[in-house]
Amino acid sequence: MRFRCTVCGTVFEKSYMATCSSCGPWGVLEVEQTLRLPEDTGDGMERFLPLLPIDPSWPRPNLRVGNTPLVAARRLAAALGLRGLWLKDEGRNPSGSIRDRASWLAGAHSRMRTVATSSSRGDSGASSAVCCASMGSLAVLFVPRETSRARLAQMLVHGARVLRVQGGPTDAQHLCDQAIRELRWYNCNTGTNPMLVEGLKTCGIEIAEVQAVDWLSVPVSDGAVIAGIWKGLKEAYRLRLIDRLPRLLGVQTHRDTTVYEEWRNDGDSGPARAPRVDPQRSEGGVPRDWRRAVRAIAESGGRMVLVSDDDILTAMTLTARLGGVYPDKHAASAVAGLSKLRPGGTAIALITGGGWRDADSAVAAGAQPIDVPNRIESVLEAMELSNWGI
Ligand SMILES: [Zn+2]
Repeated sequence: MRFRCTVCGTVFEKSYMATCSSCGPWGVLEVEQTLRLPEDTGDGMERFLPLLPIDPSWPRPNLRVGNTPLVAARRLAAALGLRGLWLKDEGRNPSGSIRDRASWLAGAHSRMRTVATSSSRGDSGASSAVCCASMGSLAVLFVPRETSRARLAQMLVHGARVLRVQGGPTDAQHLCDQAIRELRWYNCNTGTNPMLVEGLKTCGIEIAEVQAVDWLSVPVSDGAVIAGIWKGLKEAYRLRLIDRLPRLLGVQTHRDTTVYEEWRNDGDSGPARAPRVDPQRSEGGVPRDWRRAVRAIAESGGRMVLVSDDDILTAMTLTARLGGVYPDKHAASAVAGLSKLRPGGTAIALITGGGWRDADSAVAAGAQPIDVPNRIESVLEAMELSNWGI
């Protein structure tokens, strides 16, 4: 196994959990190893052991991660003008998000050490907490003030130490980076630990094993998920598990446009650098893996779109009502992006996380009960007042 800098191309033979020594913090490394087919047997991540940077003798989190359903959503496809649409439901993972694929690998690598992670919405933190609980290691999580109650509850109930940092996501990231450097804690951040993208790539391989489509729509935050999925798809293509690659549709919101701006300005060139958008202006914090995200979208012949909060809330209810899958707000942007682009043909929307951790967004989208007195007439009145179609 080797590590190649995604900016200058330097190859490192040593096992790294950090970035390129020449390019500094923006020289994200990528794992290079011999391509191997997944096992025929084994559940979830266990089936991918031959493809992952892990010694099979190491203890691993005793959790069922991966092997998530690819749900055919015919009515939602029709509503979006698509010939076919499938929802890759990553909300079925133990912590309810795709980040479990990375944290499962981190759990195996960290083996009883203290681990540290930070993330803007709290998905990576909640996921690290679950996997560390399974391994008996301690998770220290750096979260910004606006982290949702549901995700905080997940972190705390699994025994993580949660440090709510003054300021925004970028401040939480900086303090986390400093703790990793100075206290030698294991780096569980997918944007800077090259091992963890390897966990995320398993989702791309699972998709390739089941369904070839024209478009794959992916919500973009720190860039690691879309980079990992693309790596998995490319490996599946080289292993002949799939005979064509989809175009990637990267979706960001008007409040988090960093990767979008770099994609629009063709930012995948030149020396290592921070993205051009001021991180304090961007709700998602600094996307450490922005360059690989931009590169993946360009390589696939894909594109990016920006969606609004209203687009996302509409997509959340449409996905739940017409597709039977309940996405969180970030995940719903995958469907909102398809609704905005309306590319036709066939598509998969990557539902990166489950909506049960994001009830406030569902309420904001109009999910309200009808209060009624305890008598049958009130049921008839409710039926008359709101058109139920029965
Ligand atoms: Zn470099």
